[in-house]
Amino acid sequence: MNHAQLTALGRALRLLGEHGETLTADTPDARLHEIRDDLRRAVDLLDDSVSAGAPATRCPEHPQGPVDDSAPDLCLLCETRRRAARRSEFQGGRPRPGEPVPTAPSRYGVRGDRPQPQQRWLPELWNGQEWQLCGTPRRDRHEAEAYLAAQRRGSRPAMAYRLVHEFTDYEVLRVWGTPVRVDIEPMGNL
Ligand SMILES: [Zn+2]
Repeated sequence: MNHAQLTALGRALRLLGEHGETLTADTPDARLHEIRDDLRRAVDLLDDSVSAGAPATRCPEHPQGPVDDSAPDLCLLCETRRRAARRSEFQGGRPRPGEPVPTAPSRYGVRGDRPQPQQRWLPELWNGQEWQLCGTPRRDRHEAEAYLAAQRRGSRPAMAYRLVHEFTDYEVLRVWGTPVRVDIEPMGNL
């Protein structure tokens, strides 16, 4: 949208707002026709201003990308990436103690189906311009520190290294009721 379009569209929308303010049950038909014309003009201006088609997904990165109806943001590309991340975490991750294996399929899934809170330590080096990742992010802090120590003792160490703690989590805002763990009885309860 260029500046002229912005100005014209803004004026047209403000005019519609004024129509809305003055609208009453007694507003004459002539006035309603005027409002309709102004509305059409605003829609035409909008049509001219919008360069791309309406976004297909709610993903800010791929608004025009392929759609996955089951994805929260409808983005197939990001959902594929998330699935891969979940899969690799499932295969590479340690079983979390106390976490039950989901047995009852839910339409919305259990929390384990969604991205897990993650804690990682990222080894980084100073490349003379900026910090850059210099090794695999670790799940274990001591492992990451040992890795960096080994890097510093290497034949051509960088000027500086640093350890970055990356953490993402969910926050439970409020709980209703008392979540008591119950055994799920087999079907038919024989
Ligand atoms: Zn996306």
